[in-house]
Amino acid sequence: MLREALRPVVDLVYPPRCPLCGAGLAAQDGLCAYCWAELAIPGEPSCAKYQRPFGDGVPVGAICLPCLGDPPKHDGIAAGTLYNEASRKLVLAFKHGRRIALARLLAGLMAARLPPIEGQWMVVPVSLHRWRLWRRGFN
Ligand SMILES: [Zn+2]
Ligand SMILES: [Zn+2]
Repeated sequence: MLREALRPVVDLVYPPRCPLCGAGLAAQDGLCAYCWAELAIPGEPSCAKYQRPFGDGVPVGAICLPCLGDPPKHDGIAAGTLYNEASRKLVLAFKHGRRIALARLLAGLMAARLPPIEGQWMVVPVSLHRWRLWRRGFN
């Protein structure tokens, strides 16, 4: 409630800008339409272990050759976006540019790629070293 009440003041002092190109935005936690289109959102079909994209015609659940040759020791990972210049800038803006308002957008991108929860899950955050946590201010 306090956050909502202070939003106009924050927006006045720090006008919302796209973290990738600097274009004006309506809210602190988004991207402009151009930069949003530059993100490469993974889709299907893709490798069931690393979400490496496949061409058309590969069945869902297939595993890529590198994963077959050297099977990972986990059940799979989920990526919110494929790595490209736009995703690199987005993560750097969040991690090192102190654009913490991007957390909701990044969490939404990752949550959209998680498989349906079946059975028991354990989500484990990767903790920062205490000195990095102290320098960055958040984990
Ligand atoms: Zn932009
Ligand atoms: Zn793979």
